[in-house]
Amino acid sequence: MYTIHPFTLLFLFMLALSTLIRLYLSQRQIVHIRRNRNQVPDEFAGNISLKEHQKAADYTTARVRFGRLPLFYEVVLLLFWTLGGGLDILDKIVMHYQLNTILTGITVILIYTFLSSLLDLPFSLYNTFVLEEKFGFNRTSLKTFFTDMVKGALLGLALGVPLLFVILWLMAKMGNSWWLYTWLVISAFSLFMMWIYPTWIAPLFNKFNPLEEGETLQRINNLLQRCGFNSNGIYVIDGSKRSSHGNAYFSGFGKNKRIVFFDTLLNMLNDDELEAVLAHELGHFKKKHIIKGMMITFATTLAGLALLAWLMKTGWFYTALGVTQPSTYMALLLFTLIIPVFTFAFQPLFSLFSRKNEFEADAFAAQQTDAGHLIHALVDMYRENASTLTPDPLYSAFYDSHPPAPVRIAHLLKGNGN
Ligand SMILES: [Zn+2]
Repeated sequence: MYTIHPFTLLFLFMLALSTLIRLYLSQRQIVHIRRNRNQVPDEFAGNISLKEHQKAADYTTARVRFGRLPLFYEVVLLLFWTLGGGLDILDKIVMHYQLNTILTGITVILIYTFLSSLLDLPFSLYNTFVLEEKFGFNRTSLKTFFTDMVKGALLGLALGVPLLFVILWLMAKMGNSWWLYTWLVISAFSLFMMWIYPTWIAPLFNKFNPLEEGETLQRINNLLQRCGFNSNGIYVIDGSKRSSHGNAYFSGFGKNKRIVFFDTLLNMLNDDELEAVLAHELGHFKKKHIIKGMMITFATTLAGLALLAWLMKTGWFYTALGVTQPSTYMALLLFTLIIPVFTFAFQPLFSLFSRKNEFEADAFAAQQTDAGHLIHALVDMYRENASTLTPDPLYSAFYDSHPPAPVRIAHLLKGNGN
C-alpha cells in the first residue's frame, strides 16, 4: 500500500500556503496602486507631476504582475526537482561515472546550478530587455548582459567549488559535529568575501574612478570628518552602463571600506542632497546596522546547519522529498531548495528590522546634515526611479526593506520639528 509521508504533506501545504500568500499580496499591491493612480499624494503635489506619478504606478504594477509568472514556474520546477524525481535522476546519472562522493556531489550541484540558471534566463532577459526597456531604464546591451553572466559564472566556479569541496569534506569527516566546523568555514568565507568585494570583485563588473576634486568631494570629506569615518576612497562607478536607476553604497569593512556612488545618482542629485544621502548611509554604519545584520545572518546559518544535521540523520528527509539515495550533498541540495518555503513566514520580521534601521539612519542623517535636504533627495530618487508613493500597506509590511515614502518623509519632518 502507498502512503504519503507526513513531511511530504507538510512541504506541499507550506508550498501552497506561501504561493497563495504571495499571489494575494501581489493582487493587493496592484489594486491599491491602481486605486491611487490618478491622484498624486498631497505632500508630493508640488514635486511630482501626475504624469510621473502614473509612470511609477504603471512601472510598479507591471513588475508585480510580471513577477507572478516566475512564481508559478518556480513552484513547478521545485516540484519537478523534488517529488518529481528530477534530483534523483540527476544523481543516478552522475553516480554512473563512479567518482568519489565529494566529486559526485560537486558535479551534481554544479549541473543543478547550471540548469537552474538556464531555466531562469528567459525571465532575466524579459525583465531587462522588455520590462526595464519599456519604462526607459535599461541601458544594458545583450553583449554586456551575457559578459556579466559569463563573468559571474566563472567567479562562482572559482569561489564556490573550493568552498563546496571543504563543506562536503567536513560533512564526511567530522562526524556529528560537522555542522559546527561548517558554520565556522561559511562565516569566515563570508567575511573574506566582504573583505575582497570592493577591491577585487566589484571592479570586475564596473569601472571605479575616484570622485573628482571639487565642491562635491569637499562637502563629502567634511561630512566624513564630522562623523569620524575613515574610508579607503570615494568612488564613482559607471552604473549608467547597465541601468538608469541611481544608487549609492558602502562596501567592505575595517580599513577596506569604500564609498561608492553610481554616476546616475550624481546626475540625479545636487551637492546638498548627495551629502544627505551619504549621511544616511553613514548612519547605517554608525548605528552598527551592518554588524547587527551580519550577526543575524551568522545566527540563522548556525540554526539552519543544526537543523540540517538533524534532518539528514532521519531517513525520511530524503524519501519524503523524492530522493531515494541518501548522501551528504543531496541533503545539502534538498535543504537549500526547500528551506525558503518554510522561512517565507519570517519575511515580515526581516522587513521590520530593516525598516527600523532605515528610520535610524534617516534620523542620523537629519542630525548630521539637514532633514530638508534628505527629503528633497528622497523625492528626486522616487521620481527618477519611478518608485511608487502609494504601496499597499500590507504588501509593504511584508516585503519592503524601506518604509513607504510618505511615512519616511513624515518621520523626517516630525524629527525636524522637535
Ligand atoms: Zn538605508
